Amino acid sequence: MGLFKKRRYIKINPSHVTPEVPVEKKTIVPDGMWEKCPSCHAAIYTKQMGQEKICTACGYGFRIGALERLTLIADAFEVWDTDLETQDPLGYPGYQEKVAKNKEMTGLDEAVVTGKIKIQNQECVVGIMDSRFIMGSMSAVVGEKITRAFEKATELKLPVVMFTASGGARMQEGIMSLMQMAKISGAVKVHSDAGLLYITVLTDPTTGGVTASFGMQGDIILAEPQSMIGFAGRRVIEQTIRQELPKDFQKAEFLLDHGFVDAIVPRNELKATLAQLLAYHNQGKREVSHETKKTGK
Ligand SMILES: [Zn+2]
Repeated sequence: MGLFKKRRYIKINPSHVTPEVPVEKKTIVPDGMWEKCPSCHAAIYTKQMGQEKICTACGYGFRIGALERLTLIADAFEVWDTDLETQDPLGYPGYQEKVAKNKEMTGLDEAVVTGKIKIQNQECVVGIMDSRFIMGSMSAVVGEKITRAFEKATELKLPVVMFTASGGARMQEGIMSLMQMAKISGAVKVHSDAGLLYITVLTDPTTGGVTASFGMQGDIILAEPQSMIGFAGRRVIEQTIRQELPKDFQKAEFLLDHGFVDAIVPRNELKATLAQLLAYHNQGKREVSHETKKTGK
């Protein structure tokens, strides 16, 4: 049984390793020139990451805001429902101040941007979550905006593309936040029953109630490389099932291997991939079959 013995570690006196001068003060590299990849921990030269902010070592897409994301994929955009005011149903201490601060920091009205978009001439309805806005958590307004987006898409007979990035429910809104899962799912079902396409793009991080509802309800589920996707936190699951989980558990690649995700698409290929998928399902269907006839392929 020697093989399974617990590995022994030597004890290190912290005073021997903790430098007196904080590490950041010792650095001679100018700020913002290098960024550490949260996925593979490699130091990446920011200029090489490009506009898409991709890790050149592992393909991980650094977290970006909803508006940055929009500029990467949209050829035209019409914004919807920016006039909904976030309420404080539980009178949660400090919540209103937090919302105001996040509005100012992100320039957004809430953690999701919705509207009508054109991706390489393919028209569809889009929802883009922003993980910087109170961790992209799902408030009643986030739920309402997404629900309305699906309802309008059904009315306009348009497909929906949702970019998810969320820490889950918004605890400051309690049950009001949790009920958004059912409300959005209802609107997704109506949209689906109308025979319309729904594509989700899971980005880092997609967790909690978003994974448990519209994140995983897409007809086609795409994910960005190395994204963290899950429901409950790793530690909670480990404590519940009393087992150690695989290292890459809750990574997009692990989910692809286990059938939860249809494809992993690098951020710089996302626009073309979405346009192609939409074209197959839109009027492009006819164009594609026409092309096929012409070329005889
Ligand atoms: Zn990386």
